[in-house]
Amino acid sequence: MTNWDAIVIGAGIGGLVTASQLARRGAKVLVLEKYLIPGGSAGYFERSGYRFDVGASMIFGFGTQGTTNLLTRALAAVDQKLETIPDPVQVHYHLPGHREVRVHRDYEQFIQALTQIFPQEKQGIRRFYDECWRVFNCLNSIELLSLEEPRYLLRVFAQNPLACLGLAAYLPWNVGTIARKYIRDPELLKFIDLECYIWSVVPANQTPMINAGMVFSDRHYGGISYPKGGVGQIAQKLVAGLQKYGGEIRYKSRVTRILIEQGKAVGVELATGQTYRGKRVISNATRWDTFGNLLSDIPRSEQRWRQWYQLSPSFLSLHLGVRASAIPENTDCHHVLLEDWVQMEAPYQTLFVSIPTLLDPDLAPKGHHIIHAFTPCWLRDWEQLNPTEYEQKKEAMAGQMITRLMTLFPRLDQDLDYMEVGTPRTHRRFLGRMDGSYGPMPRRPLPGLLTMPFNRTSVPGLYCVGDSTFPGQGLNAVAFSGFACAHRVATDLHL
Ligand SMILES: Cc1cc2nc3c(=O)[nH]c(=O)nc-3n(C[C@H](O)[C@H](O)[C@H](O)COP(=O)(O)OP(=O)(O)OC[C@H]3O[C@@H](n4cnc5c(N)ncnc54)[C@H](O)[C@@H]3O)c2cc1C
Repeated sequence: MTNWDAIVIGAGIGGLVTASQLARRGAKVLVLEKYLIPGGSAGYFERSGYRFDVGASMIFGFGTQGTTNLLTRALAAVDQKLETIPDPVQVHYHLPGHREVRVHRDYEQFIQALTQIFPQEKQGIRRFYDECWRVFNCLNSIELLSLEEPRYLLRVFAQNPLACLGLAAYLPWNVGTIARKYIRDPELLKFIDLECYIWSVVPANQTPMINAGMVFSDRHYGGISYPKGGVGQIAQKLVAGLQKYGGEIRYKSRVTRILIEQGKAVGVELATGQTYRGKRVISNATRWDTFGNLLSDIPRSEQRWRQWYQLSPSFLSLHLGVRASAIPENTDCHHVLLEDWVQMEAPYQTLFVSIPTLLDPDLAPKGHHIIHAFTPCWLRDWEQLNPTEYEQKKEAMAGQMITRLMTLFPRLDQDLDYMEVGTPRTHRRFLGRMDGSYGPMPRRPLPGLLTMPFNRTSVPGLYCVGDSTFPGQGLNAVAFSGFACAHRVATDLHL
């Protein structure tokens, strides 16, 4: 029996960054993934000549400068590189009242576009987004590793005390409070809510300022880029890097239990009954799956955390293959549609749309495009349906989404070539996530990021990584979590 230094449960981006970083430091690492390929919510599937991203496609972290380009760094650390295609517009908002805002890569162009719509808030807009830059500049000037490692904290503080103090000052704040310092217009405040909601799934008063500083500034600094060959390439490259440094990955390996001896995590058991032992166990499954499914006891600290955070909704996803004539000229890659501000958080209302083939045409057969459209909804809507009812509901809901999409793509129904519908059940099954959830969301306004757990857990030897750890959802964020987790584990293993 091999005794691994670290066993990582799950090959999402968080798990793979941890594993590859540890392998790079000389640890003997094993990744166990239940699915056939790596990536989790950043995976892909292929049908009829199309390569669809299952989830993420608006990718931060591929910049070339600073310290916040964590995907570039994670790949480079294991000698990997990806060709990326810069996106000139992060997102094109289609807002209630037929208003439109495009978030240009160029900061000044974006500020001007927003100011044109809210001229009375010219100063407030500038001051709010400039404050986000202050957060970002602090983040982007320090090496981002484990905040649970005191020697690192001391070193970083000695190197850059002002940035550290700046970040500490913003840690307990949410965006809503900062936005209200500068902005009065209720509709503009609603827009800031939407700016947060599209990645945090909560409005500004529940979205940590640190995360917003990152998102609202890095889109103009490192920019949004798309990996050539599809988002799945990121995970594939991380696996190549992991293997290059001696790490191993086993697919179709569903962990059903974390083995505990004398109160300490010592290994895992698979659905097949096979067991693996390791000095450290790292779970890339959600905290709800880790504490509840993989461990039967839910420690007190986790119970407390659940009083603060709940599972966010899942999504109804349409993966469409369309003839090129469906996409009007000069269409942007990413869109968000909302017809009524009051409905922003309601199921099936805010609609996200991505057309990755505008950046990488090779993902579809020649003369065709991919449209990925998704909207938040709950698993409970899709349970207790027999197979016929389930199919009928999928068809009906897809029809409604297509009708809404036709405001952007009037020829969509005639030009439709392929359609796959994913429901919360699909997300639960294929992404291995409790209720198919996108991740944790605060139950009420909390003190910024202060309540988000780091990588260590209350079970000795067991760590968590990924979107239910600091700093939250998104590929660059889980890469941060991966760097931090590997750093903490490597220190504990004296590597
Ligand atoms: C529809 C959608 C759109 C999104 N859009 C964006 C976007 O545009 N930009 C962005 O940055 N982010 C986006 N995200 C969020 C982003 O994809 C996630 O935050 C991120 O990928 C989560 O990574 P992770 O490492 O935490 O875990 P996951 O991706 O959930 O990976 C966990 C892995 O663990 C495996 N696993 C789970 N349990 C077990 C077990 N018991 N045994 C073995 N293996 C197991 C799973 O199969 C999975 O591979 C989107 C997400 C979704 C769903």
